[in-house]
Amino acid sequence: MSNLRFKSVEEASGRKAVKVELPKERVETYYGKQVFNRQKMFEYLPKETFDSLVKAIDNREPLSREIADSVADGMKRWAIDNGARHYTHWFHPLTGSTAEKHDAFIEHDGKGGVVEKFNGKLLVQQEPDASSFPNGGIRNTFEARGYSAWDISSPAFIIDNTLCIPTVFISYTGESLDYKTPLLRALNSVDKAATRVARYFNPAVNHVQTYLGWEQEYFLVDEALFAARPDLVMTGRTLMGHESAKNQQLEDHYFGSIPSRVEAFMLDLETECHKLGIPAKTRHNEVAPNQFELAPVFEECNLANDHNLLLMSVMEEVAKRHNFRVLLHEKPFAGINGSGKHNNWSLGTDKGEMLFAPGKNSKDNLRFIAFVANVMAAVHRHNALLKASIMNATNAHRLGANEAPPAIISMFLGSQLSAILEAVENSEGNEKIMVKGKEEMRLDVAQIPELMIDNTDRNRTSPFAFTGNRFEYRAVGSSANCASALIALNAAVAAQLDDFADKVDARISNGEELDKAILSEVRVLVKASKAIHFDGNGYSEEWKEEAARRGLDTETSAPLMYDAYMLPSSIEMFDKAGVFSKKEIEARNEVKWEMYTKKIQIESRVLGDLAINHIIPAAIRYQSLLLDNVYKIKELFKGDKSDRIAAQDLASIESISEHISEIKSGVAAMVDARRKANRIESEREKSIAYHDDVAPKMETIRYHIDKLELMVDNEIWPLPKYRELLFIR
Ligand code: ADP
Ligand code: MG
Repeated sequence: MSNLRFKSVEEASGRKAVKVELPKERVETYYGKQVFNRQKMFEYLPKETFDSLVKAIDNREPLSREIADSVADGMKRWAIDNGARHYTHWFHPLTGSTAEKHDAFIEHDGKGGVVEKFNGKLLVQQEPDASSFPNGGIRNTFEARGYSAWDISSPAFIIDNTLCIPTVFISYTGESLDYKTPLLRALNSVDKAATRVARYFNPAVNHVQTYLGWEQEYFLVDEALFAARPDLVMTGRTLMGHESAKNQQLEDHYFGSIPSRVEAFMLDLETECHKLGIPAKTRHNEVAPNQFELAPVFEECNLANDHNLLLMSVMEEVAKRHNFRVLLHEKPFAGINGSGKHNNWSLGTDKGEMLFAPGKNSKDNLRFIAFVANVMAAVHRHNALLKASIMNATNAHRLGANEAPPAIISMFLGSQLSAILEAVENSEGNEKIMVKGKEEMRLDVAQIPELMIDNTDRNRTSPFAFTGNRFEYRAVGSSANCASALIALNAAVAAQLDDFADKVDARISNGEELDKAILSEVRVLVKASKAIHFDGNGYSEEWKEEAARRGLDTETSAPLMYDAYMLPSSIEMFDKAGVFSKKEIEARNEVKWEMYTKKIQIESRVLGDLAINHIIPAAIRYQSLLLDNVYKIKELFKGDKSDRIAAQDLASIESISEHISEIKSGVAAMVDARRKANRIESEREKSIAYHDDVAPKMETIRYHIDKLELMVDNEIWPLPKYRELLFIR
């Protein structure tokens, strides 16, 4: 069977870069070709419909039924003109991936033929038979229906001859069953609250927009090697595999040139992205071998997130054309860097002000400090929740596992911003304060001169870092739907900004001057949320202790982290921000626990199968070769000499036996732990059992398998090794 391994190595090594047929036109010409964007709307919709639709999108208003019919008609004509034969409501269920159910544009005409049909009703709302999507119990009750409803703020697009209509997915009683609904609610909430605060500085502000620029990390593995690793196929990560002699220690991959096969893949992928209106911009090698990154230009948050989800599925398709498989798992290989998805997040007004960017005059700078302080306060207050929002069974391998970063949320501000906040904290009134920057900077908060925030002192170990004009939320996992993190973050910031505005308003009613009122409240926030600020090495042991002393959440067990959603502070905050009801939170936590259990359960089953049916037979085969050898030695040589010559083989035979028996008893214990866990009724308790009792047993089994890999004849070893998976491209 090791044949398969060598065949796959041979196949993979012999591959050449696939030639990519690039469009003849320039990028501007085909950019967004597959998107029903404003230009297409203008072309395909009657003037009146176009105006109403654009107005509804810009003002976040609902659409009337007549307009919807007219939009549907234009959208259908555009889609059919561009080769679409089916349409689907595209939604984001709690599984974390995307879902679609395709319907043809045709219906019976009642005369034995068919007519093309797609009207406003079908565009706006559908009732997908989605009873099998996770819902945490909400839809098991008396009303099992779920609806998908058009999200007009994200344009429809065509992929694989199917018109995809971005939708939310909600229950009959209005509870969200997806990621998009609460994200839209959170964005709306931040818009309202941030607009309130932004108006202190510019009364003309009408809206505040949230921006997201994600950076998608991923691994590529040749498809033949991938197919020869059942663990990669079934779980997306290697459940075993000894570290290869060369890893990432030379750091030669990061700066190295992109391998030609990969370059062809990237070119192909970028072209597909551009046709879909995804503004893919940068690409490069990452730190680990065969690890890469793609980042777009940032966009409005909801759209950017749709684009990330779309990208993840397009990537898989394009990779296949290049005989690659994409690994989006956070930790496909032990011992080398995992993959994340940095979320660059910022707020900006409809008047063009970036709210996390320092400005040129005192007013701008006070606004900048006020927004930063509010983010600090929100992240501090809800640090446990934010951590829960990025946690799942796969990201757990990155955070809080044996490797850095730790499962602690802290905030990096950099030396200059830290100094400014410190000065603000220690100031009393409106006096002039000195800040140590590159040069001595004079900072009078009421009269702040131009602030030059230097973001060169970036700290790569921080899970949440200020980077000049935005925050970079780095703890998000590579396979995640970013919405989970952004729902929690935006909701927390919205609730905080609202609270801040209430307090500032109260001071103003008491006759305080606006600037002074703001500054006083900023000072309160900076003082109260200092504990979240940490510019040191987040990977150090000392930080774990220090963070615990500061009262930050240091829980490392994913199932227990989810409890943070049920904290009174979280329930109250989500309610205040209008993002989740308590019932929704409870239901979603059920899903989180259930998903955690299922992931570990699948991994554990795959590991058991591989251990018993692939690894042990190979080890026995090798052991029997050794035994054979010992017999022959004993026949040829006599006495001491024979013992001496056979000693090494005998030691190996014994050692192999020990590992085999550890693996066997380990698998038996793991199966037993699973059986016990499966009997537990409560999803929470069950996932805790999987975390505490099942997962650690997988580690033990792996340890012995990896030892065997070092001993067993290379010719016999059945699974592609790390060096093959990571260095053949
Ligand atoms: P890095 O050095 O972290 O790789 P990049 O310059 O590649 O940084 O940018 C990472 C992402 O941040 C990109 O998607 C970029 O568009 C996005 N970005 C830049 N400015 C902002 C901003 N103000 N708000 C949100 N995202 C931003
Ligand atoms: Mg980055």
